[in-house]
Amino acid sequence: MKIAVLALQGAFIEHEKVLSELGAECIELRNAEDLQQDFDALVLPGGESTVQGKLLRESGMFEPLKERIEAGMPVLATCAGMILLADHIADDDTRHFATIPMTVKRNAYGRQLGSFHAYGELETVGQVPMTFIRAPYVVSVEDGVEMLAQVDGRIVAVRYGNQLALAFHPELDADRQVHSLFTEMVEAYLHGSQQRHSA
Ligand code: GLN
Repeated sequence: MKIAVLALQGAFIEHEKVLSELGAECIELRNAEDLQQDFDALVLPGGESTVQGKLLRESGMFEPLKERIEAGMPVLATCAGMILLADHIADDDTRHFATIPMTVKRNAYGRQLGSFHAYGELETVGQVPMTFIRAPYVVSVEDGVEMLAQVDGRIVAVRYGNQLALAFHPELDADRQVHSLFTEMVEAYLHGSQQRHSA
């Protein structure tokens, strides 16, 4: 399985390390030419969503990636990545990929809670460590968006089709369960598309 990691800005190397440990091959996306390579899935790392959104557009990767996400390519999005996928950002008219019908709030935990660590139950997985860094949370979701985890009554993980979006940073903890869930999603996707091709 070949996973493309958006490498414009932010915590992308950490994802590559974890996914390589789990047996995936990773490539980095920095410009439109990188999209010529074959890949099965995408990682949108944490960082700064405004900067990432700007660089995505300037690099010419925005539209082709949006099309592939809409076509069902699996995506793992963490923190800023979750903001890129949300179709609404609270108190903000900015929109990026807007492929998950949900509203997120940026820098939602206030200054004193800018970074914190928690353990939470992730649906179908169990307890996982959750590291939050100037994190967003999900204010509301529309039909079809599964809520996978809540911390203090706030939604911090969702799944919508093949898009898995998290407010926290699993790549910064030693636990591999979230990335394993994602590689299982990619396997299922590849298996499904093989079946479609051979049908
Ligand atoms: N605060 C960042 C943003 O709004 C997200 C922080 C992160 O990715 N750790 O994009």
